[in-house]
Amino acid sequence: MSEQSWVPVPEGSDFPVQNLPYGVFTPPGSGQPRVGVAIGEQVLDLSAIWAGTPLGADLATGSLNRFMRRGPREWAYVRERVTGLLTDQAERRLVEANLYRIDQVTLHLPVEVADYVDFYASEHHATNLGRMFRPDAEALLPNWKHLPVGYHGRAGTVVVSGTGIRRPSGQFKGPQDPAPVFGRSAKLDIEAELGFVVGAGSALGEPVGVADFAEHVFGVVLLNDWSARDVQSWEYVPLGPFLGKSFATSISPWVVPLAALEAARTATPEQQPQPLPYLVEKEPWGLDIDLRVELNGAVVSRPPYAGMYWSPAQMLAHTTVNGASLRTGDLYGSGTISGAEPDQRGSLIELTWNGRDPITLPDGDTRTFLADGDTVTITASAPGADGVRIGFGAVSGTVHG
Ligand code: CA
Repeated sequence: MSEQSWVPVPEGSDFPVQNLPYGVFTPPGSGQPRVGVAIGEQVLDLSAIWAGTPLGADLATGSLNRFMRRGPREWAYVRERVTGLLTDQAERRLVEANLYRIDQVTLHLPVEVADYVDFYASEHHATNLGRMFRPDAEALLPNWKHLPVGYHGRAGTVVVSGTGIRRPSGQFKGPQDPAPVFGRSAKLDIEAELGFVVGAGSALGEPVGVADFAEHVFGVVLLNDWSARDVQSWEYVPLGPFLGKSFATSISPWVVPLAALEAARTATPEQQPQPLPYLVEKEPWGLDIDLRVELNGAVVSRPPYAGMYWSPAQMLAHTTVNGASLRTGDLYGSGTISGAEPDQRGSLIELTWNGRDPITLPDGDTRTFLADGDTVTITASAPGADGVRIGFGAVSGTVHG
């Protein structure tokens, strides 16, 4: 028998009591942003529950950072207390006064993003891109199976779901073009990813081991790494992505705590050759999370996170192995999630093979890359405790010219 909340939770809701994702919201009408937890179709104002305490002050702010900085024991305490509030009828009077309908509040960027890193952890995605961009060479570069490849991105342009995405301009040059040109990107794309939010920082000079992942990472968001492929393909050699990625990265407003994902934990695919010792996990942090990508309401892909080659714990260990420290609010993306099947690819460049094979939408329209007015929405679900499914809400964005 699964634990149930006395708060009504509709069948199939992303937010049963086994989930309890954190967000930052402003109540209808007025008021300051504050931290809340989603339950069914409502959000519980945590700043009101702990009003008058130091914890309450940390929850009455416009981001999760002050709460996250308190560390994993405090995260566990709050989760246990909120579970009690939402399952014990005796708490009903206290809780009901502080519940708001999610569709009546304003949801904000949940985290003040410190550093932002993006990885490249799907073997299928890396192989597909390698085949397209380097058709005459090995699809995977020699380092790919020895380390989680990543780059530092632009933290200041991480935006919350619902933020409009302006089509970026830049310079690009096709292989046959005599010289680069400047203009609006004609190859605007998406990348369906998960984002991992660091809650507890680390000391400079002290690497974080693979086994310490849950001591530092607070939770998981959906992430869309908007990408201008024409800008990217001209600029990325030799130092990697720059302006082709930095104009916007969207994340979902709800951060699903790691504690809600215990039942989703799974093995990573076999890693051969064996990685160096600092990357070897005794209990791997693979995650059985199924994503869904919609373009103007039509499902165009269902990427499975479970097939990702590198785990988020390996990505974190690699990020810090040189002694680089973590800060509260650091965010790192998994890299585009692509499965083995054509309908499991997490980007349009793969779904259309760089524009060669347009996709047809239900209304008969075709797409290679995104058109102005297009809306992309990514959702996901995972096994939760007690055999229930939990969801991540959505990350959505509409392109405008
Ligand atoms: Ca990416």
